[in-house]
Amino acid sequence: MSDLRSHTLSEFAERFGHSAMSVWSGPGRVNLIGEHTDYNEGFVFPFAIDRRTLAALRPRKDGIARVASSFTDEVVEIPLHDITPDTVSGWSAYPLGVAWALRQFAPHGLDYSGFDIFIHSDVPVGAGLSSSAAIESATALALDDLWESDLDRRTLARVGQLAENSAVGAPTGIMDQSASLLGEADSGVFLDCRSLKAEVIPLGFEAADLELVVIDTRVEHAHATGGYAARRASCEAGAKAMGVRSLRDLHVADLDRAVEILDDETFRRVRHIVTENQRVLDTVRTLREEGPLAIGELLVASHESMRDDFEISVPELDLAVEAAMANGSIGARMTGGGFGGSAIALTRTGDVDSVTTAIRLAFNDAGFREPSIFTVVPSEGARRAE
Ligand code: ADP
Ligand code: MG
Repeated sequence: MSDLRSHTLSEFAERFGHSAMSVWSGPGRVNLIGEHTDYNEGFVFPFAIDRRTLAALRPRKDGIARVASSFTDEVVEIPLHDITPDTVSGWSAYPLGVAWALRQFAPHGLDYSGFDIFIHSDVPVGAGLSSSAAIESATALALDDLWESDLDRRTLARVGQLAENSAVGAPTGIMDQSASLLGEADSGVFLDCRSLKAEVIPLGFEAADLELVVIDTRVEHAHATGGYAARRASCEAGAKAMGVRSLRDLHVADLDRAVEILDDETFRRVRHIVTENQRVLDTVRTLREEGPLAIGELLVASHESMRDDFEISVPELDLAVEAAMANGSIGARMTGGGFGGSAIALTRTGDVDSVTTAIRLAFNDAGFREPSIFTVVPSEGARRAE
């Protein structure tokens, strides 16, 4: 039994005074490529990682929902039927929000029993690895089993998104939950954010002896909220000026026309989205035809586009990418919304140590805060632990 699982079970017993029925887990995710394309109805290509959030559960007969987490000593308790987006707050809005959201999707007439849930995790919070999707997918799968609502994984992803949008109040897309629920070992989830069609694509990292190094710059997303809103507004303005519903409807060949019509800044924002969508498609095709060693240039081009056209990078992210590439990584880019957060570097196993050391030295020389550097492995999605 893994340490994470045994700790979850023993903490459950300690907090609630009886033992859990079972344990479910959901992974965090990394986005391999496709940044800011989600709200433009475009393509993203994330994968589930080997860092997971566990949810131990036991049903209750009195209709009460109780949730606890290793984050805090607090046990939040509420009658199941009183849970709405307005009655939950703080960290417990994630699991309780899922309990509410799942009932919005579930068939009528189910017998909803109360429950005790204890959450424990090794997904770092706020490092761009989506600890939020991990807690949502673990809880959604656990409650789907408990209530026998029999929802498919695509629907459970929408449950997580609804919880995050309504109960937590974060206006996020469906990428993170899709990766966390649909991921498979050594594979990515190619997601069309317009049709919500998702396809699992083998990455082949294992056979090629590749690892994905994550460099968490630990730079706070100081301009993240304002910057994100401004980028969304530019994308909407660009689509409107070009006469399309969303930037998804533009292709690389349309950029000649766009440069004539749009002001310089809007044009560069649009160019990032249009070329990034193409890079996601090219990454999927390249993986199929040539394998993962051939996707490096696409990752670097994605980074340059975010740095120069979308202007969401910071010097720490640029330096991480530069140092990784100068020391043998196959490809590297910032990942996530930008203005801080993490970069990723696709690296041969034999080069991971030297890339890590080189990045640490480069950060030290530049006077940057010490980054947190670790590797992640593309792993299977949420599951009930045996
Ligand atoms: P991330 O980029 O990690 O997804 P978010 O701000 O979206 O960052 O979600 C992090 C929040 O999710 C935390 O602040 C907390 O409220 C909740 N959360 C994540 N993991 C846990 C956990 N193991 N226990 C309790 N709450 C958690
Ligand atoms: Mg999140």
